[in-house]
Amino acid sequence: MLQAMLASYKSKDPNTKVGCVFVDENNHHISMGYNGAIAGIDESQIPWGNDRTVPLEFQKYGYVMHSEANAISHARGTLKDSKGYITLFPCNECAKLIASQKVSEIIYLSDKYRDTSENKISKKIFDLSGVKYRQLTIEKDLIDGLHHYLLDLLKKL
Ligand SMILES: [Zn+2]
Repeated sequence: MLQAMLASYKSKDPNTKVGCVFVDENNHHISMGYNGAIAGIDESQIPWGNDRTVPLEFQKYGYVMHSEANAISHARGTLKDSKGYITLFPCNECAKLIASQKVSEIIYLSDKYRDTSENKISKKIFDLSGVKYRQLTIEKDLIDGLHHYLLDLLKKL
């Protein structure tokens, strides 16, 4: 999960930073991703606003790939029977990709969208396809402390 948290800090998204790491059954790293533009695109050239009242071409939602989709698209090997560590519970679009890849389990930190339809769809997709999921509970103080430590570290790099 620490690797997923580190990956999230690579995101240029000013509001939401999500990281994802897939590991095989021996816990060896397969792939990582964070929410961002398609690889190779100059991310300074896309809008990062989240105002849904403006046309989609001016919203980040038109351009940004979620961390899970990025990790899946960058995986060189199979994700069958892998485990995904993700800092935020997957949306329904990513749940489709995860289930299609035959990932065995999702371990996540935050479930802040738990009451949304997208979240309920994700859980239904996982239940129907046999993808296990569980929340990793870490003390909020520890997460907050780690967050500030990593932000300070990034400023020094
Ligand atoms: Zn998603």
